[in-house]
Amino acid sequence: MLCKECQHPLRVERRCRQILLLCPQCLREYHIHEVAAELDEAMERELERFPCIIYD
Ligand SMILES: [Zn+2]
Repeated sequence: MLCKECQHPLRVERRCRQILLLCPQCLREYHIHEVAAELDEAMERELERFPCIIYD
């Protein structure tokens, strides 16, 4: 899954009880609900590894 701003691959960032997607290049943060419709399969599998994910 790529950043909408700079097309850099996003990484999963865990904050307390919340999970964000963070672009390590431009530091844009995406909440899961913002991109829920656009998650690709690879990112969905990665998110599944977090047992207590909060979809805010
Ligand atoms: Zn970016």
